[in-house]
Amino acid sequence: EAKQQGKAGFVRYVDGMGEPVLAHMQLGGELRRALDNDEFRVVYQPIVRLDGRRVIGVEALVRWHHPTRGVVGPGEFIPAAERTGLIVPLGRLVLRETCRQAAAWLAEFGPDALKEAGLNVSARQLHDPDFVDDVSAVLAESGLPCERLVLEVTESAVLRGQQVSRALYALDSMGIRLALDDFGTGESSLSLLRAFPAAIVKLDKSFVDGIEIDDGQPAAADARKAVARAVIQLAHALGLDTVAEGIESPEQVAALRELGYTLGQGFHLAEPMSADEISRLLAAQQDQDRFPVRGKAVP
Ligand code: C2E
Ligand code: MG
Ligand code: MG
Ligand code: MG
Repeated sequence: EAKQQGKAGFVRYVDGMGEPVLAHMQLGGELRRALDNDEFRVVYQPIVRLDGRRVIGVEALVRWHHPTRGVVGPGEFIPAAERTGLIVPLGRLVLRETCRQAAAWLAEFGPDALKEAGLNVSARQLHDPDFVDDVSAVLAESGLPCERLVLEVTESAVLRGQQVSRALYALDSMGIRLALDDFGTGESSLSLLRAFPAAIVKLDKSFVDGIEIDDGQPAAADARKAVARAVIQLAHALGLDTVAEGIESPEQVAALRELGYTLGQGFHLAEPMSADEISRLLAAQQDQDRFPVRGKAVP
């Protein structure tokens, strides 16, 4: 039976009752089992200075090491984890692992090597009345200073009313930095920035895609550039940091730098990697005093 599951994937493997709802229930059961069996792992994608390519932070991204399907990305199970509420224990696991790891990097490489470690938090977690206390307890237990933790939330998660808003303000007042993830894709990005204690804005990949193109489709590229420009102007005016997401080419780095972006994340700079690989990268960076993984250092 396990083999069939491996071949078929989650939606089809509910034999004879192929309703999506049932498949989701099945996936919920699988997720519960996976939590019990310790099948989730955290990888870290570097956040990099665009002028010289130093790693200044990481974003934690969860992976499911399924016994038959191999490594499964979060796009395939986070929605089900949210629906079933399993995102709460799963998120706690990612939080604990990230804080523990970030504290270990701090101890090994000192305060200047990695400024911060971020992780994604879903609306369902922010609705959990224990969330703020959990974060506080995990930080205390790990020894990671509050200001080195970044919690990434999306615009739609933030727009979920009083309870979420209270949680966000409580986290902010603890000194934790909040990042607005996938910024620009929501419906009320700009007004949200006033109503929410963000420290960081992450420009969504959709505005980075094609930003380097000067001919071919000038209109489309100009529109993206206009959003990217408006976002950084707004961020500067409000005193927020920015990170450009999904950078896949040196031309995009150049276009973003021209607009004033100083931090970025993307496959061109560095892919998500294991904690050990991050450690090697930080060690190499300490030796060479520059980012050694990929791409040429830009003076
Ligand atoms: P996100 O928070 O916006 O994370 C960035 C995603 O973009 C990651 O996908 C990353 O691997 C991918 N990415 C980074 N650079 C590039 C690039 O240059 N090109 C392209 N095409 N993609 C790039 P991933 O790991 O599959 O995660 C997808 C989403 O799943 C995340 O988007 C986040 O919303 C969610 N997620 C991941 N881990 C967690 C978690 O622990 N908890 C929660 N609640 N959500 C998570
Ligand atoms: Mg994120
Ligand atoms: Mg993002
Ligand atoms: Mg994204």
